[in-house]
Amino acid sequence: MKTRRIFTIILLPLLLSIGLTPALLSGGTPDAFALNISGRAYTAPDSDQMVCGDKLCSELDERDTIIVYDDGYYQLVQITPNVYSFGSESAAFSLVVRTNQGIIVVDPVNQNHAETMLQAIRTITNQPITHLIYSHNHWDHIGGGQVFSDIGAKVLSHIDTALWLEENPNPKVVKPYAYWEGDFKEIVLGDTKLELYQFGPSHGEGMTVFYLPDEKIVFLVDIVTPNRVGFTIMPDFSPKGWENTLIEIEKLDFDTAMYAHKKAYGPASEVTEIREYLQDLRVEIMSMMDQGINPMVIPSTIELTEYESFEYYDQWLEMNAWRVLLEMWMGW
Ligand SMILES: [Zn+2]
Repeated sequence: MKTRRIFTIILLPLLLSIGLTPALLSGGTPDAFALNISGRAYTAPDSDQMVCGDKLCSELDERDTIIVYDDGYYQLVQITPNVYSFGSESAAFSLVVRTNQGIIVVDPVNQNHAETMLQAIRTITNQPITHLIYSHNHWDHIGGGQVFSDIGAKVLSHIDTALWLEENPNPKVVKPYAYWEGDFKEIVLGDTKLELYQFGPSHGEGMTVFYLPDEKIVFLVDIVTPNRVGFTIMPDFSPKGWENTLIEIEKLDFDTAMYAHKKAYGPASEVTEIREYLQDLRVEIMSMMDQGINPMVIPSTIELTEYESFEYYDQWLEMNAWRVLLEMWMGW
C-alpha cells in the first residue's frame, strides 16, 4: 500500500515527465496497437470509394505511381493504393501508410515538412493520424512532431531512440509517448500490417527498418541512399553493423525500397548495390593494408572504379574510406 502511494505521488509524475509511463505501467513492452484510437470513434470509409489521384483506388494497378500532391517543392507520391512517400528530393522523405482505421506516419522531419504533409494527407483522406513513428534519433528526421501530436497521434520510437532523446532533448523534437523494445514489433492497424525491425547498430540509435509484408515494401532512412557513396564522413554510422543490417534487410521479401533521401523509391536491387559497395570498400582497404601500404595514405589513394558512377564518388570516397579504416583500426 505504502509502495503504491509512493509510486503514485512521487514516481508517477516523474515517469510522466520523462514520457516513458505507458511502457512501464503495462509491465513491459507497450503494445503499439493499444496506443491508438481509444477515445476517438472512427468509421472506416468504403475502401472501394477511396480516391487515389484522379482515379478510384480500386482502379489502380499494383505499382501505379501517382503524384497526388505537388506544391513545387514537396510531393505526396502514391506507391501503392495505401502507401505513400511525402517529401522533397532536396531534403527528406517520410512514409505515410493509410489503413481503414487511420494513418501511420514515419518521421515528421521538421515543422514545415510536417505541416505540409498534414495538408497533403488531408487532400486524400480525413482519417485520423493515429501513429507518428520515429525511424531513429537524429533531429534532422524527427523535428516537427508537435504538428501530429497536437491532433492526437501517438509518438512512438524504439527504446534506444527514446533514451537518447531523454539525454539529448531538442525543443523541436517531441519525445516519444511510448517505445518498443527488442528487434521486432508488429503493428496491426485495421487492414494493414506494419513490421518494425531493429537489426543492431547501423546508424544512430534505435534505427528502425519498416516493412509492409503485404505490399512487399521497405522504408529505409539514411541506411540506403541509392546510387550514391556513403554520406561524407559517414556520421554516426557503424560500417560493419551497417553491412549486417543491409544483409538482414535483403532477407525480407520485398520488391520496392522507399528511401528518406534522393528519391522516393526504387527496386530492391539498389539495397544490394549499397551493401556491395560497403563490402567492396572494406575488402579494398584490407587488401591495400595487406600490400603494406601505409594506412594513412589509403583513403586518398583508394579507387573503386566499379562505383565511379555513384553520386559523390569523387568528393566523398576518401571520407568514406577514413570511416571504414578507423573502425577496422580502432574498433570505433
Ligand atoms: Zn540519421
